[in-house]
Amino acid sequence: MIAKPQRMRPLEPAVIAFGSNLGDREATVKAALDDLAQTPGVRLDAVSPFLESVAVRLDGVDEDAPRYLNGVALVSTALDPHALLDELHRIEDAHGRVRVERWGDRTLDLDIVAMGGRQVHDERLTLPHPRASEREFVLAPWLDVDPDAELPGLGRVDALLAQLRASAGSEDVAANGGAS
Ligand code: AMP
Repeated sequence: MIAKPQRMRPLEPAVIAFGSNLGDREATVKAALDDLAQTPGVRLDAVSPFLESVAVRLDGVDEDAPRYLNGVALVSTALDPHALLDELHRIEDAHGRVRVERWGDRTLDLDIVAMGGRQVHDERLTLPHPRASEREFVLAPWLDVDPDAELPGLGRVDALLAQLRASAGSEDVAANGGAS
């Protein structure tokens, strides 16, 4: 009997935000992006310029904390959203991420901002990322690599960014890099 060829899942676009505020941030982020590019089932399509942002703690902006280096990567993936999250956690762990406190300093933080138009709400994953629309350090680099980007359910990223900039003091909206 001839084996039926396995059907590949179609590639889906996904947006991944990255941030680092400890150690050699640029080296960590570049190594993490290399790992992402080499992950089976993931194709790295674009990487935004990196930008710096101020850390935010649970109780607000922390000017004394090390600043974050942030950016956004566009990928196409055959993985389902949870498998992609597993891969991001594997890459975080490979780069020494220690989860000490929520929203604390971190060598590497990788979040899925959106995956196509998917809406996911479970104990492990929320898509689109529930705080993406509040974060200039996500919206601005995303817009750099995709001027027509849309956050599913919320609208165009250029409009969301303009709204964010208009409605908040620039110190607050530029803030933090790693707060999931
Ligand atoms: P943090 O350790 O602050 O990066 O928080 C990561 C946790 O948030 C993970 O354990 C994930 O299960 C959860 N999470 C929920 N939604 C997302 C998302 N869209 N991207 C990344 N992590 C997510």
